[in-house]
Amino acid sequence: MINAEPKLRPCPQIVSSLEKISEGKDTNGIFMMYVKRHIEKCSHCAEALDALTCYQDAVKQAYKETIEQGEKPFTDQDLSNLLDSISKPA
Ligand SMILES: [Zn+2]
Repeated sequence: MINAEPKLRPCPQIVSSLEKISEGKDTNGIFMMYVKRHIEKCSHCAEALDALTCYQDAVKQAYKETIEQGEKPFTDQDLSNLLDSISKPA
């Protein structure tokens, strides 16, 4: 039997930092250095960052295509809410 897709379980204290990294935001600073080192050692967080990055790429691609087709895209706030909802532990 094939297992269901494993649930992502990034460490709660660095979830918001994972988002910033996946969004390509400013990742300087001592806490971010700590976060990056943590990701190298923590498979949960590394997987979560991978998933977030893939997800962001897919969303950006969809957003771009929507604009190219002349449709009204969703707002940055919608996007932010969506990302919040997927990055919070169930
Ligand atoms: Zn972790």
